Amino acid sequence: YFEISGAPIINERNIPKGVVLVLHDITELKKLESMRKDFVANVSHELRTPITSIKGFSETLLDGNLDDKEAVSQFLEIIYHESNRIQILIEDLLSLSRLESDNFKLVLHKINALELVESLMPALTYKAERKDISFTTEVEDIQFKADKDRITQVIINLVNNALNYTPARGDVSLRIYKEDELVKIEVCDTGIGIPEKDLPRVFERFYRVDKARARDSGGTGLGLAIVKHIVEVHEGEILIDSEADQGTTITVCLPA
Ligand code: ADP
Repeated sequence: YFEISGAPIINERNIPKGVVLVLHDITELKKLESMRKDFVANVSHELRTPITSIKGFSETLLDGNLDDKEAVSQFLEIIYHESNRIQILIEDLLSLSRLESDNFKLVLHKINALELVESLMPALTYKAERKDISFTTEVEDIQFKADKDRITQVIINLVNNALNYTPARGDVSLRIYKEDELVKIEVCDTGIGIPEKDLPRVFERFYRVDKARARDSGGTGLGLAIVKHIVEVHEGEILIDSEADQGTTITVCLPA
């Protein structure tokens, strides 16, 4: 895309001698503009589905017979579930927007890997138990400097994904270890995997390999975009290795 602006060149006697044309390459600008439009469309779509459902079920409750306790409780359950989904989406959007803001600052802490994982165990194992997935950890007793809340978010997002995309009786593991002056956080699963053609795109906001399945799993479509941002602000790197129907390994490498 180009934008053209021009101006005439006029001599001392006010007679035009020619024109100057300036070509601006605005491809990058157009790309940003189109990404912004896609983003707004995606967010609106993600919000519309749960809101339609909340509205529908509350209207039914308002119009209907409230004596059927079982139906009432089932409808309220759905309303609660859908509002939860909106809340998670909004929290993810806020996380992304904070990470992208100009005055974003990392708050560095000295983190002990063992203690961190220990404190996250209840959150990490809850879903594994419910889904009958074996969840194991192998964590070295190491210290590293990083933003604790953000690294917590990285671990939770990666383990949650591994659990979401692994069927019952599968295995999910979390390893944290030091190698080549890097701290590596590795989450490995024996789940459905990611087809090769989708691998480069899974870190984009709202990109999902299988839309219906991903929504059912309760994800917002922003988890890996957030992980990627957090890793970037730590000047780290993220590697992904996956094979359809075999499983996925995602490794986050942080400077130690
Ligand atoms: P979502 O909330 O949809 O899980 P993410 O940004 O966390 O969004 O992930 C983007 C997509 O990448 C998912 O919808 C899913 O298709 C794929 N994905 C992520 N992690 C895994 C995994 N461990 N195994 C298989 N597919 C995965």
